[in-house]
Amino acid sequence: MLTVEEARQRMLDTITVLPTEPRGILNSLGAILAEDVYANENIPPFHNSAMDGFAVVSEDVSNASKAHPVQLSIIETIQAGYAPTTHIQRGSAARIMTGAMMPEGADAVVMKEVTELAGEQVTIFEGVEKDENVRFTGESVKHGDLVMSKGKLIRPQEIAMFASLNRSEIEVYKPPKVAVVSTGDELTPLGEPLAAGKIRDSNRYGICAQIEEAGCEPINMGIARDNEAETERKFREALDGADALITSGGVSVGEFDVVKAVLSKLGEINFWRVAMKPGKPQAYGIADGKPIFGLPGNPVSSLVVFELFVRPALLKMAGHSELLRPTFSAILEENISNRDGRVSFMRSIITSHDGQYYAKTTGPQGSGILHSLVLANGFIVIPAGATITAGETVEAQFME
Ligand code: AMP
Ligand code: MG
Repeated sequence: MLTVEEARQRMLDTITVLPTEPRGILNSLGAILAEDVYANENIPPFHNSAMDGFAVVSEDVSNASKAHPVQLSIIETIQAGYAPTTHIQRGSAARIMTGAMMPEGADAVVMKEVTELAGEQVTIFEGVEKDENVRFTGESVKHGDLVMSKGKLIRPQEIAMFASLNRSEIEVYKPPKVAVVSTGDELTPLGEPLAAGKIRDSNRYGICAQIEEAGCEPINMGIARDNEAETERKFREALDGADALITSGGVSVGEFDVVKAVLSKLGEINFWRVAMKPGKPQAYGIADGKPIFGLPGNPVSSLVVFELFVRPALLKMAGHSELLRPTFSAILEENISNRDGRVSFMRSIITSHDGQYYAKTTGPQGSGILHSLVLANGFIVIPAGATITAGETVEAQFME
């Protein structure tokens, strides 16, 4: 059996990044940046005021107070969007608005709230130091700076930054299109009555949602019956229209598992036994240069194997630089003993208080008990053979 890390590394080594495309910035939310973005101008482009108030020579007012106010003559009013026309000298000041350009000679801004205006005179009741309330040219970003690197997820703040750098279009990675096929004679589409021995096909819906959550495009290809010809036709059609294929079910040792036979015909597929619980049987390989992931049929196994293997692979195809979610330690709130020779990913409720994470499992952890995931916001990782008592720490990660 392979460890989770070994299996994941072997898989990731075979995954290649998809090509890039230009996008208008308003269509780039959730995409991955495919270029290093440099600033071709300073932000802000000029020294400006951070407050509504008065631009002054700081030496004039450094000792101003309620008891010893300072009076200055106003020689100009500077509105945001306009260049000043005067030079501030000792004894004078300019009324200035937030974001307006600092006038020559002034080196600080006194905020309006500590002043009193009477005609062309302003009285100042509080001192300021040099540079106070001034925003300097390039203090956010300097001309030539590397502002955002390739591989970065584009969020609203990145889009605002593109705009402030005057970039209306940027290069992003094409998000992978990922086809999903469920397999099994027992699966019944939603809306149809359940005949004896049949169950709902839940995996396909969960997998499509996981694909979307990873920023990729799911292609829902329906159900393939446990019949070799039909399964092969369905898998080939799914692979043709996508960058990757995910199948659900049929990779274990069951007697009617035609999935393995068909996957083997498509390409170089490995049937792996990964030393983990849930999700031991898995298939992974490449056909026509595209990755194929054979997930186990048990609903919990399917979602967990996607999370630990497929998600990082799709993120790599999509150009992400961060493939794994961060892990952290949490204090266990119950006793757990994992007598199995496989590491156990237990669905858990992780909370935080007093600067510390705590975790408890969501109850019965069978690989068919989907509710264990519905109640959970993350996993805890219990190593093979480990006994951990309440109060000890475990490795944890969020899964949302
Ligand atoms: P298999 O891996 O095909 O042997 O299936 C293992 C278990 O998962 C069986 O109990 C199946 O009925 C169940 N299963 C398989 N596919 C799905 C699916 N798409 N949705 C829900 N359960 C499934
Ligand atoms: Mg099956």
